Amino acid sequence: MSADKWVGKEGAFHIASDEEIKAGKISDVYFQRGVQVLKEKNADKWVKGEVRASSLPEDWEWAVLGGIEEAAHLLTGLKVDVEAMPEGTLFHVEEPVLTVEGNYSDFAIYETALLGLVCQASGVATKAARCKLAGGDRKVYSFGARRMHPAITPMVERNAFIGGCDGVAVPESARLIHEEPVGTMAHALILVFGSEEEAYRAFNEVIDPKVKRVALVDTFNDEKFAALRAAEVLGKDLFAVRLDTPRSRRGDFPKILEEVRWELNLRGYEHVKIFVSGGIDENRITECNPYADAYGVGTAISNAPVVDFSFDLVEVEGKAVAKRGKMSGSKSAFRCTECFTTRVVPRGREFEKCACGGRVKPLLKTLIRKGELVIGLPDPHSIRGYVLNQLAHISLNL
Ligand SMILES: [Zn+2]
Repeated sequence: MSADKWVGKEGAFHIASDEEIKAGKISDVYFQRGVQVLKEKNADKWVKGEVRASSLPEDWEWAVLGGIEEAAHLLTGLKVDVEAMPEGTLFHVEEPVLTVEGNYSDFAIYETALLGLVCQASGVATKAARCKLAGGDRKVYSFGARRMHPAITPMVERNAFIGGCDGVAVPESARLIHEEPVGTMAHALILVFGSEEEAYRAFNEVIDPKVKRVALVDTFNDEKFAALRAAEVLGKDLFAVRLDTPRSRRGDFPKILEEVRWELNLRGYEHVKIFVSGGIDENRITECNPYADAYGVGTAISNAPVVDFSFDLVEVEGKAVAKRGKMSGSKSAFRCTECFTTRVVPRGREFEKCACGGRVKPLLKTLIRKGELVIGLPDPHSIRGYVLNQLAHISLNL
């Protein structure tokens, strides 16, 4: 298209509105054309399809299901029945996490948006879960808002939280999950004051005492000396020091943390915790765990790899069908309440006991019937609790 015919969203952000998404406008054109053909040929049929992943990114052995609340928002009002695993369920490859049934033309154009919602949300929630699992009892915060389009920040940070993060940095995201935002101190504040000490003092005087004092200690001085200075200036008010070490120094990072911890302890500042940010992911967390008390994770979570879910038809007019390489027919997924093993079986064929002797329960629950939401959706805290409970039963193989 030539420049003079440009009819974009100049003067506005390049995002789709709620109304446009609900109207099915964010759809690959081949779905729209397919519906046109089926309608004109009077060939529409009742179908059932399922969302599942045949592989997971980065050798993940499991992933956390996200995006179900938004998927429910997308699909309510359509003439469809929807089943889904509860948001926050840990799933594996080939497990159906969501199913949609109805006349194909009634929902075909929503496949693009549906997959987009669950693919990205699940990737973010999974990366957050991996970081939380790597950190053990240490706090993990989502600090990656600056790495994404601002329009989706609340969505991304909500999924970071349900995946296991202890807090998020952006107030609008925090509002969505009914939490207070979490933050430390920016390099810019210290640069504007021109002195670390002055910035620490000013922050301590001005900011609500409920906010924990976390001094950034790598702006002008070596981390070790700046950490001691922060402890001297703020004394008991100092909750933690934050080390945000640039890429060039990361090689020795655990060593720097060890030195900081040693020097603080030697001078009676055992109460001062160490907060680490800058290029943190689950591997980095494992390395820093001996000395760090909390982490701010950015890009690794906010720009987590997406889970490559696909939506495949498995029944047409009640008959089992599937494309090459996919298992046909409607399925159930059961999880053992003891060993957490999941089994997928043909729908109707029940699976009552796990090999370990434990009880099993079905994972797919009816979410929408004839376009109406039929279950109450859990709040973000409950979903996060559900995720953490499952994480307690597994290990992280990095
Ligand atoms: Zn079992």
